[in-house]
Amino acid sequence: MAEPECIFCKILAGEIPATIVDEDERTIAFMDIAPATRGHALVIPRAHSADLLSVGPEDLRAVALAAQRLAGRAKARLRADGVNLLNSCGRAAWQTVFHFHVHVIPRYEDDPLRLPWIPAAGDPATIAAAAQELTGG
Ligand code: 5GP
Ligand code: ZN
Repeated sequence: MAEPECIFCKILAGEIPATIVDEDERTIAFMDIAPATRGHALVIPRAHSADLLSVGPEDLRAVALAAQRLAGRAKARLRADGVNLLNSCGRAAWQTVFHFHVHVIPRYEDDPLRLPWIPAAGDPATIAAAAQELTGG
């Protein structure tokens, strides 16, 4: 079902233009309007779901396969050196469009993207406590 206020549903309906680069029964992929690097694309399911936690398993699978397809094309055709797949789930995780999507971001040895955090060793007790909560212990 399309959500009337959803930008990506409007792209699916052809109401907003987009440069489509891949499609199948369950998904489409189009170029991001504000690319992080050359070739940055977004894969979405045709069926609206808000985020990672609400998308159905078949759509999730189809999006993952489409993202893998595009990653391969980024390497083969854009000559990317690597690819980042990114999903943001929830405002706190930087999600801004609430129609589930995966970013396919081609990476180049000399591109300007940097990790948004500086990895540093964590406190083992804090890691273990989080792990225990995650596993329901
Ligand atoms: P998020 O922040 O939710 O993970 O990603 C949303 C992405 O959608 C952003 O990278 C943004 O540039 C892209 N975006 C937002 N509006 C449009 C649009 O109208 N057309 C296209 N092609 N991309 C959009
Ligand atoms: Zn939508």
